[in-house]
Amino acid sequence: MNHFQRKGGVLLAEDLPVEALAERYGTPLYVYSTATLTRHWKVLHRSLAGIRHVVCYAVKANSNLAVLGLFARLGSGFDIVSGGELFRVLRAGGDPRKVVFSGVGKTDEEIAFALEAGVRVLNVESAPELARISIVARRMGRRAPIALRVNPDVDPRTHPYISTGLRDNKFGVSVDDARRLYPLAAKDPALEVKGIACHIGSQITTVRPFLDAIDRVLALAKDLGRQGIRFAHLDVGGGLGITYKDEAPPHPDEYGAAIRKALARFPGEVLLEPGRVLVGNAGILATKVLYVKRSGRKTFVVVDAAMNDLVRPSYYGAHHEIELAGAAREGGREITADVVGPICESSDFLAKRRRMPEPQPGDVLVVRSAGAYGFAMSSNYNTRPRAAEVLVDGRRVHVARRRESWADLVRGERTLPAPKARAGQAGPAVRRRARRQALPASRRIG
Ligand SMILES: *Cc1c(COP(=O)(O)O)cnc(C)c1O
Repeated sequence: MNHFQRKGGVLLAEDLPVEALAERYGTPLYVYSTATLTRHWKVLHRSLAGIRHVVCYAVKANSNLAVLGLFARLGSGFDIVSGGELFRVLRAGGDPRKVVFSGVGKTDEEIAFALEAGVRVLNVESAPELARISIVARRMGRRAPIALRVNPDVDPRTHPYISTGLRDNKFGVSVDDARRLYPLAAKDPALEVKGIACHIGSQITTVRPFLDAIDRVLALAKDLGRQGIRFAHLDVGGGLGITYKDEAPPHPDEYGAAIRKALARFPGEVLLEPGRVLVGNAGILATKVLYVKRSGRKTFVVVDAAMNDLVRPSYYGAHHEIELAGAAREGGREITADVVGPICESSDFLAKRRRMPEPQPGDVLVVRSAGAYGFAMSSNYNTRPRAAEVLVDGRRVHVARRRESWADLVRGERTLPAPKARAGQAGPAVRRRARRQALPASRRIG
């Protein structure tokens, strides 16, 4: 369910036509729906009603301050993977006591920042990281709350780039390593064992891999419990998939019910780290058609959004539905086209061989399901300003991020200082003459 629906043939974002938003705020434009974000968060939260739990939204999926602030108001926790994300969460009014800090490469500065801010737990991903956290905490005269991210070695059957719980992935520690490390952590006065965590991957479309992972983590927790190591929480990670095309992932209710059942006898709190499922279908990318180009047997719809705005198609081979924002033209033709951006890479496409009504230059196209890993993964490649982001709420619009200007593009950069003539070196006039003489006669000017 999402609040991007057609009415009278035109696509609305809640109560506003997407075409009007594109006109008013320009393109490419990310549009998020407040009602959809709210609904998704509440549905997931309610699916775990009856057990103590915290929904820790995975910030990396969409880290806009307005989105984080909305979730913070609903009472959300947050899963972060960098000091920058912690900075954002605090800026957005998030509660640090509901923050879990994941990631394989936390620096001393990030660890110190997290301890200073008072995050709930650091999800530790290796033995050397555990040692570093201990050193940093001791130096600060604090105890660091930790959980080990255990790698349960289950195959989530998703894209290899987003599988994270297999033995050969860089994430987490093996069950055997966890068995060895927990007793060491429990003895370390600078560490406080809080929980046990896992996260096996993303865009997972069946409940089975989640349950396999929970079974293994729970068995390990029980073993360690017999050695006197107690866990205040068990973190099941994120990864629940969404419908981009024809996937049929479990409804959050089904997912929640399965987790409740699997953890019925676990006495502690349950943490979740959902990202995509909360924001993916709560956002679209609006883009304007620049040209319809025919080249040999191929047709290209050239639009003003590119891989720097939405990298998922070229990076993961991901499918995003694309449709016209306005009403279809009567008697218009259907074409098969690649929808491509202006970037100088053949991998710059939003869709390949897509059947679609033939668009005209100036038409606004809508790329669906772009709320997760869309803007968050965007870049300035080809010196393109990043898109604006707006959050629609009924008929109201909040500009959550203004479009970048050209000045933004060079912020922080400096040209070299003007060359100074030093004694014994040729001055600028001499160098200019030398350069002129080095050119072939035909190209010499003046
Ligand atoms: C990315 C990530 C998530 C969120 O994954 P989704 O598939 O977006 O739900 C959760 N936990 C960790 C540790 C992550 O890295």
